[in-house]
Amino acid sequence: MNTEREKIDFDVLFVGGGPANLAGAIKLMQLAQEKNIELEVALIEKGAEIGSHSLSGAVMNPVALKELLPDFLEKGCPIEATVREDEFYFLTPDRYHRLPFTPRYMHNKGFYVISLSKFTKWLGDIAEDLGVNIFPGFAGKEVLYGPDQKTVIGVRTGDKGLGKDSSPKGNFEPGMDMMAKVTVLGEGARGSLMQDIGKKLDIFSGKMPQVFETGIKEVIQLPENNYFTTSIGNDIHTLGHPLGASLNPPGGGFIYEMKDNRISLGFIVGLSYRNPLLDIYDEFIKFKQHPFVADIIREGKILEQGARTVSTGGYFTIPKLAADGAMFVGGSASMQNTPGLKGVHLSMKSGIMAAEACISAFEKGSFNRETLEYYSHLFENSWAKEEIYEGRNFSQALSKKDPIKFVHLGAQYFTKGEGVRDRMPLREDCINIEPANGSDVPEPESGNETEPAYDGVLYVDRLTGVYLSKTMHREDQPSHIIVHDQELCVNECYDTYKNPCTRFCPGKVYEIETDEKTSQRRIKLNPSNCLHCKTCDIKDPYRNITWTCPEGGDGPGYVTL
Ligand SMILES: Cc1cc2nc3c(=O)[nH]c(=O)nc-3n(C[C@H](O)[C@H](O)[C@H](O)COP(=O)(O)OP(=O)(O)OC[C@H]3O[C@@H](n4cnc5c(N)ncnc54)[C@H](O)[C@@H]3O)c2cc1C
Repeated sequence: MNTEREKIDFDVLFVGGGPANLAGAIKLMQLAQEKNIELEVALIEKGAEIGSHSLSGAVMNPVALKELLPDFLEKGCPIEATVREDEFYFLTPDRYHRLPFTPRYMHNKGFYVISLSKFTKWLGDIAEDLGVNIFPGFAGKEVLYGPDQKTVIGVRTGDKGLGKDSSPKGNFEPGMDMMAKVTVLGEGARGSLMQDIGKKLDIFSGKMPQVFETGIKEVIQLPENNYFTTSIGNDIHTLGHPLGASLNPPGGGFIYEMKDNRISLGFIVGLSYRNPLLDIYDEFIKFKQHPFVADIIREGKILEQGARTVSTGGYFTIPKLAADGAMFVGGSASMQNTPGLKGVHLSMKSGIMAAEACISAFEKGSFNRETLEYYSHLFENSWAKEEIYEGRNFSQALSKKDPIKFVHLGAQYFTKGEGVRDRMPLREDCINIEPANGSDVPEPESGNETEPAYDGVLYVDRLTGVYLSKTMHREDQPSHIIVHDQELCVNECYDTYKNPCTRFCPGKVYEIETDEKTSQRRIKLNPSNCLHCKTCDIKDPYRNITWTCPEGGDGPGYVTL
């Protein structure tokens, strides 16, 4: 189809409206004002609003925020609570034990509990006031390259109004070509444009493969008299049940106090897990039903639910941070303190440094890789690098079998990350999964196929969870989830792994149906349930699933997550 597209020129284009790019856009405008440089800056976000696809724990270390907006409190930064004390528990199936100490990476006292959706919305308003052109509801669908096929010159946004067969409907609106001297990609974990750039340019060469964790999170309204009315600690982390004492798979829970008797509660599972029968959503429910957690959330009501992956590979998985005409920030660039489960401040700091490099590029009038690599230089000399570097072998250690895992973790704790062996290799999450009938399926407490009990208020099934995420997709559009070979799913994957997609997807996007008459199996896709967590793109053992952006504006409608 030969489509005429509108072309708009900008100096700088930010793709993604998360904390990384919003901090970047704000810093860029601040510097441009200081230096009297006039810049046309745009930011596109696939969510219908800034914040509607933002999900995080979220205990925020305010170090980057203080650097960016020292008067953040006067500017009305939406803070839910200040961490008074950390509590760390080990859960057995029916008991709990408070650990005598909290690992130093989890010392969150004085940090802020925020809602990432409210926080990014607030940052978005500040960016807009400074002159950034913000386009919510626009998904970057394709990277545009110059004639040399290696210089990034902008991004094409997705078409709107295509039918299921990709033919234009009456309301068809072609995507726009948003051209820029510098494009900053801040798509968060497993960015789809990042993946494309990685195939074309050498940004991942010589780097370890990225690994991920998937978190399911809820905001729960508690009654007035609740655990946090009397407890000192309001930042709770748990290990153990339901994943077991051996951290196989790795993961754990968190509960943070929010304003107005609300809590942020979530459960995270490392995608290095081996058991294909593990069901991430069921593990989340089992965590909530543990007596310790059930007691905290008693008489509560879920207000919102959502899910998202986080990149946890650490320092050795950081891509080259610049290409000709482009820079990479935030979760897409592995800006995460993995042992501390914190990435908001590091993502913001990466955006700030990218903005500094951008201004310097405009001063020089040069936008090639050499010039933009000033960002890498700033990063290598920053506190952010130091913090990420300390966790450089952490995911590697977590993916080992016990008891070796605990030897590595202990050694790393006392050697600032170096451990028994530095630069331990990482394996891609999708290759860790083992056959369902294998003799070495290692997670004893997980992977049984009994459904947990739901009550529809505090313990809800997946579809109610999707409803509570306010996820909407226009039904009559091409599926944004591409299953390359559906025969593979119903034959080889069914026989070997029992279709793990039906269990790792928290949104029930994947179902296997059997025709009663012919006994033929087929895969049923429900892309309109998709929470944009991207677990499927990461964990499918055959790499048979590709996640792409649906029509801009579709997806979750988070308000408080
Ligand atoms: C369950 C969970 C708990 C966490 N807890 C904490 C915590 O307590 N503290 C902490 O500091 N960190 C926490 N993190 C990590 C933190 O959320 C991330 O490090 C941080 O959000 C990364 O910021 P980002 O801007 O890079 O990406 P994101 O926050 O993911 O934002 C990316 C944005 O880009 C948009 N986008 C993506 N692709 C496109 C495209 N092609 N076109 C247009 N828009 C696009 C997305 O819709 C999204 O709005 C947690 C993460 C998870 C999943």
